[in-house]
Amino acid sequence: MALTLPPATRLVAATHNPGKARELAALLEGRFDVVSAGELGLAEPDEPETTFMGNAMIKARAAADASGLIALADDSGLCVAALDGEPGVHSARWAGPGRDFGHAMRLVEQRLEERDADDLSAWFVCSLAVAWPKGPLVVVEGRVDGALVFPGRGTRGFGYDPIFTPHGHSETFGEMDPAAKDAMSHRARAFEALKAALF
Ligand code: IMP
Repeated sequence: MALTLPPATRLVAATHNPGKARELAALLEGRFDVVSAGELGLAEPDEPETTFMGNAMIKARAAADASGLIALADDSGLCVAALDGEPGVHSARWAGPGRDFGHAMRLVEQRLEERDADDLSAWFVCSLAVAWPKGPLVVVEGRVDGALVFPGRGTRGFGYDPIFTPHGHSETFGEMDPAAKDAMSHRARAFEALKAALF
């Protein structure tokens, strides 16, 4: 059964990152009046889970119950097959407090070298959770599969984009036209799944 939403409902984007709040608002295509957890002064919950879905659910539930508004949260990252899925839910942490993704990408390469890994398979995951205050919760996941390349290429995108080539393409996410990335990304696929569940 699809859950129905009244139009122009106020929604809290469960993030303290203004860039992510804008991105979530844009993906909702003006269907909601979006405010961020940071703007509402809500506490930032820990992300103790070992899965993207688990962390997205914790963030959405905490923001919905604290604000009394419908909440949308995401959790995303890069998983590397030969590293048993790492950095995974620790993708942001590998970049350190300075959010140095050059460092995080070198760390991925170094860990692969330490393991003498030939398999460069990797995938990005994005989980999205919507929670109603003291009510139901919907969680979905999107994934895009590909292979890592070293050295990384391209200055577009963000995070681990320069070292990731999606299957069927020769350009990395860092080289690709942003619209092309947005059409196939884990985030886009998660949003498609969410729209199918909600609207
Ligand atoms: P979150 O903000 O805790 O979900 O952390 C997501 C982490 O995964 C960040 O470190 C991002 O750089 C990385 N990540 C997620 N999606 C992408 C992407 O599309 N391209 C590159 N890196 C990504």
